[in-house]
Amino acid sequence: MLQIPCPLCNSGENNFSFILNNWTIVECKQCAFKYVNPRPAQNEIEEMYGSNNHNDTMVVQVHQSYYGKGHIQDQAHYQKELKIIRRLLPGGNGTPMLLDFGCGDGSFLKVARLNGMDAYGCDIGSWNMNMIDEELRQKIYVGNFEDAPYEDGLFDVIYSHAVFEHLYNPRMVLTELSKKLKENGLLMITGIPNVRSLFINLGIDSFDGNIPLIHLNYFSKKTLSELLTVTGFEILQIKTWGVPLRLAFRKKAIRGEEKDNIIDWEDKILGSSMVKMLKKLSLFPVAKKSINAMLNLINGGAVIDIIGRKLSG
Ligand SMILES: [Zn+2]
Repeated sequence: MLQIPCPLCNSGENNFSFILNNWTIVECKQCAFKYVNPRPAQNEIEEMYGSNNHNDTMVVQVHQSYYGKGHIQDQAHYQKELKIIRRLLPGGNGTPMLLDFGCGDGSFLKVARLNGMDAYGCDIGSWNMNMIDEELRQKIYVGNFEDAPYEDGLFDVIYSHAVFEHLYNPRMVLTELSKKLKENGLLMITGIPNVRSLFINLGIDSFDGNIPLIHLNYFSKKTLSELLTVTGFEILQIKTWGVPLRLAFRKKAIRGEEKDNIIDWEDKILGSSMVKMLKKLSLFPVAKKSINAMLNLINGGAVIDIIGRKLSG
């Protein structure tokens, strides 16, 4: 086990914050970033993602379940995100070059390409490749990002969904990613679990899937903003939204259950009669919008989305 300095500000000073899945999460005294410490070495963690053909690890199983049983994010959600990207892009139309960092099953890439973007992906593990058709696979680099064949200043947009909470050194990775962006290029990071969510504060978040060592970083709106600021981005938008999945669908809390249940929680939720009923109610989107607006107002949503623009120089 290694004791590490703060991955955000490099301070060695921290306080105990909480324990999750038998791992300790500390809070940096300098910048208030929460991260798992101590922890295994980086190569040990990366092996869990199947980067060395270890496709039977718990981490890989959780991800295969996440993608294999119907994605939480649907096409309509991606369309909305791509519309925002189009609106904020310098120059507007044309065929922007986009990189999906941590592209998983490629579902975002597919929608981005249908939207006229020249979309590329990279992912550390090869376990997801059998979910991706041959043509799209040509556009995806599997392995460590540092070894990826992208020139500096290549991309107009870098998109990343639910990845930064997994990274061993998020600041270093974002610094490297930023080099691949054009000046004034856009960065959209979405779906980062919010450690200051209303539900965690109230003690009713079950941390479904949001546990060490799957997740090493526990961001708040403040520390995620700080990550972008220290790596040379201007923040254009940030919001918190959403409720914990199990709370939304009235499933019993996962707290105290065996970890096997993490694998099939999504199966249960997607098949529940509650979900079917909600989808039939035309009032559901309105209610959802109001709840999210309220959560954002108090920075209490379950996840954080942030958009930044790369500053020149
Ligand atoms: Zn710090």
